[in-house]
Amino acid sequence: MGKLTIRNKLPGFAWKLESLESTARALSNGRVLKLRHACATALLIFAGCATDPGKSPDGAFQVPAVQPPEMAVVEEAPEIARPKEPSPATSTITNSQLSDTWISLNDWSQGKGYSLAQSTQQPALYALQTSNGLFELSTDGRAARWEGAELRLGFPLKMTNGLLWINEMDLRKNIEPLSSPFPLPIGSKTIVIDAGHGGSSPGTTSVLGLGAEKTYALDWALRLQTLLERSGWRVFQTRTNDVDVALSARVAFANEIGADLFISLHFNSAAPSREQNGLETFCLTPQGMPSTLTRGYEDNAGLTFPNNTFDEDNLKFAMTVHRSILKIAGPADRGVRRARFMAVLRGQNRPAILVEAGYLSNPKEAEAIASPQYRQKLAEAIAAALVSLDTAKQPALPPQTPPRTDISTQ
Ligand SMILES: [Zn+2]
Repeated sequence: MGKLTIRNKLPGFAWKLESLESTARALSNGRVLKLRHACATALLIFAGCATDPGKSPDGAFQVPAVQPPEMAVVEEAPEIARPKEPSPATSTITNSQLSDTWISLNDWSQGKGYSLAQSTQQPALYALQTSNGLFELSTDGRAARWEGAELRLGFPLKMTNGLLWINEMDLRKNIEPLSSPFPLPIGSKTIVIDAGHGGSSPGTTSVLGLGAEKTYALDWALRLQTLLERSGWRVFQTRTNDVDVALSARVAFANEIGADLFISLHFNSAAPSREQNGLETFCLTPQGMPSTLTRGYEDNAGLTFPNNTFDEDNLKFAMTVHRSILKIAGPADRGVRRARFMAVLRGQNRPAILVEAGYLSNPKEAEAIASPQYRQKLAEAIAAALVSLDTAKQPALPPQTPPRTDISTQ
């Protein structure tokens, strides 16, 4: 069993390349795990910006007037059955959409010619070097990283019988899309920018009493429009002043325009907490995968929505914008996340994302967001990301701390 110590991009982390393959063959009689789902109880109560569908004029959802503080996700670990007869791991990747199918990451990475290394720390982190970037994965929680930026997987990795397993949905919807080239179908370079809220829906408000989310979001959207038009984009806004716009109307507008992309701009809140901070970027949850954020709404993993056609491009779009904001505006990284309840995303017939660019409930971030210079940076970051989408360039990020493995920060 050969061991090779290499230095990861992150300082202070030594990885040992493990010949898990030989261990695996000795310990396992299969390459695909079928998990019998125990009653996985996911309780996620999340405070945040009023991207809640209930605050839209649609009235399609109802939410409490006062958002409860963020709480931990409580998940019951699924029971793992004995591995079944060996079958080529790759044979299940394209044939099943079941979320209880697990693929040997060792087999998969070996088949692709990628390297898989294990950290010496506990709990272990795994470094998967693909032809299009480095993933950092863990068996402890759903936080992962791709090229230094955080994303949330549907499931933590599993180590059993000496083998490392990844859920098929994570492989298909998270790992493989980011491992392939990035250009998106943006032929006409037409985008709809959606300034969140408006009119009787102010969204969240600054803890410093400096302003409302709807005002900041609109200013950010208009700044972005100016920058994109200079780069040859056709830009349409769902609103250009302080008016109510139904979520359904925002989706219908993008359809009417025939937009290539849709981006919704918001700021976040964790009130009454003043501590939580950072950037979150959302796209629609793929079928068969649990959401990162539910805000107490039903999260039926069996449902599909029109926007699920764009699962892979949604993630590429989200990750590109997310990384660009991290680099240019410098907020803390809370990751690219998945939600199923956001009506402004799920009806979209194009790649669509929603950005929560900081917490108005955090005094430091509220002060930054109140600054026109910071909102200009946020606009510049998205404009730079969109330019990069058709050139496959991804911004380099500075080294960061390891991804959080505690699920209490979901
Ligand atoms: Zn909002």
